Amino acid sequence: MSAAVTTELKLIGHWFGGVSVQGESGRKGPVYNPATGEQSGEVDFASIEEIDRAVAAAKAASPAWRTWSLSKRADLMFRIYQLIDEHREELARLLTAEHGKVLSDALGEVQRGIEVIEFVCGIPTLLKGEYSEQASTGIDVYSIRQPLGVVAGITPFNFPAMVPMWMWAPALACGNTFVLKPSEKDPSASLLTAELLKDAGVPDGVFNVVNGDKVAVDRILEHPDIAAVSFVGSTPIARYVYETGTKAGKRVQALGGAKNHMIVLPDADIEMAADAAVSAGYGSAGERCMAISVLVAVGDAGDELVDAIKERLPNVKVGDGLDPTSEMGPLVTRQHRDKVASYLDSGPAQGATIVADGRETSPDGDGFFLGVSLLDNVTPEMDAYRDEIFGPVLSVVRVDTYDEALRLVNENPYGNGVALFTRDGGVARQFQFDVNVGMVGINVPIPVPVAYYSFGGWKNSLFGDRHIYGPEGIDFYTRTKAVTSRWPDPATSKVDLGFPQTR
Ligand code: NAD
Repeated sequence: MSAAVTTELKLIGHWFGGVSVQGESGRKGPVYNPATGEQSGEVDFASIEEIDRAVAAAKAASPAWRTWSLSKRADLMFRIYQLIDEHREELARLLTAEHGKVLSDALGEVQRGIEVIEFVCGIPTLLKGEYSEQASTGIDVYSIRQPLGVVAGITPFNFPAMVPMWMWAPALACGNTFVLKPSEKDPSASLLTAELLKDAGVPDGVFNVVNGDKVAVDRILEHPDIAAVSFVGSTPIARYVYETGTKAGKRVQALGGAKNHMIVLPDADIEMAADAAVSAGYGSAGERCMAISVLVAVGDAGDELVDAIKERLPNVKVGDGLDPTSEMGPLVTRQHRDKVASYLDSGPAQGATIVADGRETSPDGDGFFLGVSLLDNVTPEMDAYRDEIFGPVLSVVRVDTYDEALRLVNENPYGNGVALFTRDGGVARQFQFDVNVGMVGINVPIPVPVAYYSFGGWKNSLFGDRHIYGPEGIDFYTRTKAVTSRWPDPATSKVDLGFPQTR
């Protein structure tokens, strides 16, 4: 079914050199309101020439921006923090309108992003170098951190405000200028951000937004004036961005997809685990890179856990994200909704049991909704286990032992997040030692991003050697310079400075 089109489409262009720029390529993409299924906007797709203009603006702004003192830059970061804080509701509403997530969740997204800005308000401390006095006689060695120049960010649809903040906030604070290529599915938050940064006093050309598709991404990856690229998105594209960008000599960090497991041991607090499974499995309609996708029930935990989750499912109210009673919104596009729903066919066909079929509980209308869904008796060969579903279809895999559960997680090609539910501290400690995953939750569904710890998975969930934002983000957006210095002995000075002649 083709989506209805509203009469007045919002036209979404680019932002570079400190002004809004209408696209000239003639190529555009649709933006939808996922709750109604209607097209609400049209976003311009940048041409190679338009990317070049944005990069030129960033390059021109770079030399002056680099000279800003640390205290002046920190001061600006505080003003940005304040302005985004004042506009958090406006930003969140844009997220709900184009992504579909419920407003409370959208506000949570903005909050998590703001915390990254708060972290980089401490940039004078974060950029401190090291100093070794008397490395050799009369010689000192010290290191300084300098910005890379023009850096770029390419971001996914699922966190249209927060993930760009993961990138531009540390990049700018470190003294770089920035070109952002947001997801074409929900681009408006980035343009509002550009206006807010300008209002806060960010000089023209320091922050730029180019909307677009593969054409834009490919030009960014090969552009000679871009020194580094941060990417967050699906694994195939993350791998492509990493390989292409590094081949062109750039520094690249590329965060990919996920298949997060939650292991529930027989001694776990099952009520606590069931609450966590529901919130982390269905929050934001499962469209979070830290969503739980697989519950691994060990031994006797299985029946009790499935019953406890089943009991909670009718309470998850699915509806328009602007309705304050909604707890889960629609999926981002009709195509994605249909792909997610297809696991409710392939799962049972491959031997799984349907406990809850979200197709039967989706709200009426043309919105891209799928109700909460639960598959039991899933095995590692099934598509529902192998694929990153990225929607509200949760799978239960039953195993007999802790070792089997651990092996499952460690053999999975993704390694973004994992959770363990147990009352046994010794087992939890052993698990954090053994598990090959970048972010671990112990009796918490999945750890939420914390601004002062860098974020990133292992294995196919991250290509590159630096996690994003936090201390590793500062590393990524700076390069260090080691300086070795020696000064003539003041005692030998031709001018009498009052130094003793013999020391
Ligand atoms: P995506 O990979 O489809 O798109 C991400 C970006 O890449 C977008 O800006 C898009 O325009 C661009 N892109 C898409 N196809 C491209 C191509 N063929 N060539 C060049 N560029 C291309 O991802 P998405 O669907 O927007 O986002 C969801 C994915 O992001 C999920 O896999 C999710 O797990 C992942 N994600 C990961 C993290 C993390 O921290 N690891 C965080 C958020 C999202």
